[in-house]
Amino acid sequence: MTYRDTSLHVAGQWRAGAGAETLDVLNPATGEPIGTVAVAAEADLQAAAEAAARGFDAWRAVSAYERSKVMRQAAGILRGKADDIARTMTLEQGKPLVEARTEAANAADLIEWFAEEGRRAYGRLIPARSDAVQQAVVKEPVGPVVAFTPWNFPLSQSVRKLAAALCTGCSVILKGPEETPASCAALIGVFLEAGVPGDVLNLVFGRPAEISRFLIAHPLVRKVSFTGSTAVGRQIASLAGLHMKRITLELGGHAPVILFADADMTQAARVLPAQKFRNAGQVCVSPTRFLVHESLFEPFVAAMAGHARALKVGDGLAPATSMGPLAHARRLDAMEALVADAVGKGASLITGGKRLGNRGFFFEPTVLADLPMTARIMNEEPFGPVAVIQRFSQPEEAIAEANRLPFGLAAYAYTRSSANAALVARKIQSGMISINHHGLGLPETPFGGVKDSGYGSEGGSEALDGYLATKLVSHAA
Ligand code: NAD
Repeated sequence: MTYRDTSLHVAGQWRAGAGAETLDVLNPATGEPIGTVAVAAEADLQAAAEAAARGFDAWRAVSAYERSKVMRQAAGILRGKADDIARTMTLEQGKPLVEARTEAANAADLIEWFAEEGRRAYGRLIPARSDAVQQAVVKEPVGPVVAFTPWNFPLSQSVRKLAAALCTGCSVILKGPEETPASCAALIGVFLEAGVPGDVLNLVFGRPAEISRFLIAHPLVRKVSFTGSTAVGRQIASLAGLHMKRITLELGGHAPVILFADADMTQAARVLPAQKFRNAGQVCVSPTRFLVHESLFEPFVAAMAGHARALKVGDGLAPATSMGPLAHARRLDAMEALVADAVGKGASLITGGKRLGNRGFFFEPTVLADLPMTARIMNEEPFGPVAVIQRFSQPEEAIAEANRLPFGLAAYAYTRSSANAALVARKIQSGMISINHHGLGLPETPFGGVKDSGYGSEGGSEALDGYLATKLVSHAA
């Protein structure tokens, strides 16, 4: 199939960067170039900021009702193009086609939900201390947004920011992922085709640090949203602080999973391995540290390893593939280093652990057990297809281990006891907790972390708060 080169979208035009520079885009299944992405020069970023300011003035003046109609139209167009966009996504990102199709379908659902929720972004009236006074709380769109999205879910990560911004009346400059630009650009195309004015949606690519330095400082930009690593999130947050910009950060995680002695093992063994290796583990809420009661340790390790060995690793476009390559060579190097470090420090390598072949960025689905706490993978987000399994005897030990790291994005637990479930809900420091199933990431539920995993929400009605400013109007007649 053909893969299209990706341009910038600035001031209503698809165009090359002012410096005519491009970067290669690689197919991670082969490691070979399949196309290019345009690099934005400073002149493009300036034009994008000015367009976003014009777009904001125009879009905020459109009623929430009309904006909702345009967004629902976009959801319909996206469903019509889902198959094509999914193929593009698999070519540039590597995930199996079935996962790419699900991502496209979920993106359409998400647009529809935000289209509706934007119509309910009400203010309120506060009873005044005198009959002569009326106190109104008004919610207004915060202004032009600069949004940074990564390569692991080219549609999901972008659509959460775009839909929340558009439904509240904000305009956007999206800095998309250079590794997976075409599916992200296709999403912008869908919104434009649905009737979002060109100035409202700008799309740039290039050198991330230069773009963030320029746009976060830009006086026309009022809000920043970033999804990516904690290390980069800190830099973005510093810039936002320096320039007094509102910010939402969805950063790394290291999700603990507690399997209590009374867990339903059939359910846990059905759900958890599939979730661990989805998108080759390149998921911020991926279950990562499996903390298993000693009575279930052997059968759980066997279940995870059995699933890992049975996965068919290959090109995401091949129908039999159940796990694709890693999205880029950096992840492959990271996996090799993390596994070598853990094994070198005494962890048991149950299965996997090596690069597969020498073409493309394939890594074996890997299971490590009984790791020393000093292993890097016990402390750093693996962001790859590696499960680490530890044993515990007392629930308090597992809770303490779950809370040990500075991350707090997602956490999971399996138990038949309401007391254990309540303990997890009360004690675990995490933005999201899912018990006995994998229940995260729906449009209507909050999505975000605590501690080093960031702040603000990318889902639910809370997501709109990040794009709305609160204004009090106190009016004495
Ligand atoms: P990275 O930390 O260099 O980049 C992460 C993302 O941030 C990329 O999309 C990149 O383009 C962007 N970025 C980097 N520097 C930036 C800057 N100065 N300004 C603006 N954007 C910038 O590393 P990577 O190799 O792409 O990914 C490695 C780690 O990132 C992973 O291990 C994982 O922890 C994290 N990550 C998290 C998510 C998530 O969903 N939360 C997604 C992708 C990557």
